[in-house]
Amino acid sequence: MRDYEFIVIGSGPSGRRAAIQAAKIGKSVLVVEKGRRVGGASVHTGTIPSKTLRETVLNLSGWRERGFYGRAYRVKQDIGADDLLARLHKTLDHEVEVLEHQFNRNSVKTTRGEGRLVGPHQVEVTDEAGEAHLYNAKNILIACGTRPFRPDYVPFNGKTVFDSDEIIELPILPRSLTVIGGGVIGVEYATIFNALDVAVTLVDTRPTILDFVDVELIEEFVHDLRDRNLSLRLGSAVTAIELGENGRPTTKLANGRVVTTEMLLFAAGRVGAVDNLNLGAANITVDNRGRIPVDPKTMQTSVPHIYAAGDVIGFPSLASTSMEQGRVAACHAFGMAPHPPPEFFPYGIYSVPEISTVGMSEEEVRKRGIPYECGVARFRETSRGHIMGLNSGMMKMIFSTKTRRLLGVHIVGEGATELIHIGQAVLNLKGTIDYFIENTFNYPTLAEAYKIAGLDAWNRMHA
Ligand SMILES: Cc1cc2nc3c(=O)[nH]c(=O)nc-3n(C[C@H](O)[C@H](O)[C@H](O)COP(=O)(O)OP(=O)(O)OC[C@H]3O[C@@H](n4cnc5c(N)ncnc54)[C@H](O)[C@@H]3O)c2cc1C
Repeated sequence: MRDYEFIVIGSGPSGRRAAIQAAKIGKSVLVVEKGRRVGGASVHTGTIPSKTLRETVLNLSGWRERGFYGRAYRVKQDIGADDLLARLHKTLDHEVEVLEHQFNRNSVKTTRGEGRLVGPHQVEVTDEAGEAHLYNAKNILIACGTRPFRPDYVPFNGKTVFDSDEIIELPILPRSLTVIGGGVIGVEYATIFNALDVAVTLVDTRPTILDFVDVELIEEFVHDLRDRNLSLRLGSAVTAIELGENGRPTTKLANGRVVTTEMLLFAAGRVGAVDNLNLGAANITVDNRGRIPVDPKTMQTSVPHIYAAGDVIGFPSLASTSMEQGRVAACHAFGMAPHPPPEFFPYGIYSVPEISTVGMSEEEVRKRGIPYECGVARFRETSRGHIMGLNSGMMKMIFSTKTRRLLGVHIVGEGATELIHIGQAVLNLKGTIDYFIENTFNYPTLAEAYKIAGLDAWNRMHA
């Protein structure tokens, strides 16, 4: 078959969700994937591998128990790269199996090869043997994602200098690591390796890390990192990276400082994977980072029957939001009204410890001139925190003093990415501080922090 109602280029979260949605409403769907297996960057190099690595590290290092048994505590001595890879491959196989089954069950056809546009309704797929196959589509979704940004001055060699796709298959565990990039990916890997007692130095040109997160939360997080001997070299640009003896990378900074470690991870940015898509054949243009502009309500590009979703359209570049974008594109393409996107979505950062945030930061609230009050809870104040031996962890909630409405929730600490959903529900349902004051929370739980932070804010508002 060469004619489809929907052709999806890329099988990551946005492509997968779009394909399944279109198939559910009875459309013929073809997913084109150039990778060896379906799943996208999310399954093979990004979200799932990094989260599996994190879980393995926390388990084998005994990280969660160190609050009780001390910093020297380890479940397994001499953790090696093999220990980390074993769990990774098992998890990825399972993820791919589930996805393949989902495609089969819903009669979504898949083909392996690199897709490119050759006309507004034509997609050419070049298979592994170099043979080209032409397909026609009523509607097309570009869900090709991104690839790591690899500037010329970084001497990538796959042995001592890696990008964020390569680091996942690290051949040996280094004793020391430089991480360049204080965004989500850089911070996640820096803290994961630090939990393995690797000597990590995190470098960023900007004076702070994760600069979109509430400042007070980041201060708390950075305090924790310094306490764990994670070195931060912020606010100075990288002027050169040189390879020394045995390929050891030396990073030179504009302020004169020099960092030499066994390995280096460059994790400063990703660019749209649009190089070979031949978007010009359909008159679609991209920005200087390879991102495709779309209508955020429909996911349509400048060509109405060609949609784009996922990381290739830019912010927020999350698997969670990509899935929703894919579904919106499929619904719109086939005349089904999708739900409007919620006002607030959560951001999960799987660093050690986790960070999660939803709604406005204190800085945003202040900028908008909204009168507000904050409430703070520390996990060590909760009985669950005592039981778990938690020494750190904090929740901050922000409320409008005029309407009493919840404006933002910011959490750093164990379980933050799960806990955030309580705040997200209250926020999107336009709830007020009274929800937290009036309701009973399970005891002992970390969720009790909502009660404590709510009462803290309430007491300040009524002082
Ligand atoms: C290290 C890391 C950690 C992350 N952690 C999280 C997290 O914890 N939570 C979260 O929500 N998000 C996370 N993300 C982001 C998340 O992985 C992305 O937002 C998500 O994968 C984007 O999905 P996508 O639909 O754009 O497709 P992608 O997952 O980027 O996949 C695109 C697919 O398209 C294929 N493709 C590209 N071009 C072609 C072509 N021409 N023909 C055929 N196939 C093609 C590629 O081979 C790939 O399989 C992380 C990302 C990274 C890198």
